[in-house]
Amino acid sequence: MAIATTKRQNVVVMRSRYYLTTVKRVCRCSSCGAKLRLGDDMVFRKDGPVTLCVRCAEADPLIDYRPSLRWEKEQRRRRQGRMAA
Ligand SMILES: [Zn+2]
Repeated sequence: MAIATTKRQNVVVMRSRYYLTTVKRVCRCSSCGAKLRLGDDMVFRKDGPVTLCVRCAEADPLIDYRPSLRWEKEQRRRRQGRMAA
């Protein structure tokens, strides 16, 4: 119950927040124009939309990004795959 209330209040914040995720579709960094290739890490914002390479996101002090759940899952899978190989 408390969680649902918090979520509703944070909708605007969530939309303008940056997330670290894996590139699912080839695109370009909104800042430097670098090509973001499939499987690379990227930072995106839902409200915009803005796609950034990790380097630009790191360089901008205004951008405070966090790993998306999907990205974390992917990292876990990657690590497991490496261990199995
Ligand atoms: Zn960039």
